[in-house]
Amino acid sequence: MIDIGEEFLSMHPAQRKWINECSMCHHRGYKPNILEQLYPYPPAETRNLRCYFKPLALNENGVCEDCHKLLKQKQNKNY
Ligand SMILES: [Zn+2]
Repeated sequence: MIDIGEEFLSMHPAQRKWINECSMCHHRGYKPNILEQLYPYPPAETRNLRCYFKPLALNENGVCEDCHKLLKQKQNKNY
């Protein structure tokens, strides 16, 4: 299977700075606030990121919301 997101990033390496990667599941997505930061003139490549990735917010530990929930569930079971 071809990873079109990775292919896009290899063609536009500068766009990697907008990519978040979860440290647990290694799921990747673009930083949710990129368009606000680049407003009003986001480069076309950055707009295109949204075709290949979904927004991915990470918490302060570099973990996505899904993994954060899983972690919480695990912690609750241990108590
Ligand atoms: Zn994750």
